[in-house]
Amino acid sequence: MIKNIFLDRDGIINEIVMRADLVSSPRVISEFTFKNDFLNIVPKLNTFSGNIFIVSNQPDIARNLMDIDVLEHINIEISKVINPKEIVYCTCDGGNCGCRKPKPSMINQLIDKYNLKKNESVIVGDSVKDIESGINAGILSVFLETDYNKNQIVTPNYKIKSLNDFFQLNLF
Ligand SMILES: [Mg+2]
Ligand SMILES: [Zn+2]
Repeated sequence: MIKNIFLDRDGIINEIVMRADLVSSPRVISEFTFKNDFLNIVPKLNTFSGNIFIVSNQPDIARNLMDIDVLEHINIEISKVINPKEIVYCTCDGGNCGCRKPKPSMINQLIDKYNLKKNESVIVGDSVKDIESGINAGILSVFLETDYNKNQIVTPNYKIKSLNDFFQLNLF
């Protein structure tokens, strides 16, 4: 039974931001918009008795494309609708840090910190990096298929087409 949900942020909670055909994320608060798909599952998240975490790569911080205050502001917006136990960001650029997904350490550190069980944990994401971070951490993974990622080669435990389908999986 799942007691710990690790949510990716961009493309799961909020809409991605397209920049010249590239999938990007909000850099200013005015670019932050909740996904309707996410808002639809807010009641279920708020009655979920386990833990909700958010684990997100935000390399635009290290690239000086976004101010750290924007992340804080977005956290406040998210916390108005759900109650995550902790939100963790990798704000590093490239793959040289220890935390950037597909590395598992953001997940592993939370699992250690809160003494959680891996077989009670799942990550939900919209990118290959999310799924690989879950695989690398040894937890279940759920891939949200969208119009911008449907050609990705990815091997999650489950693929879903809407977040509502997540709660229809036989995990709870
Ligand atoms: Mg994402
Ligand atoms: Zn990092």
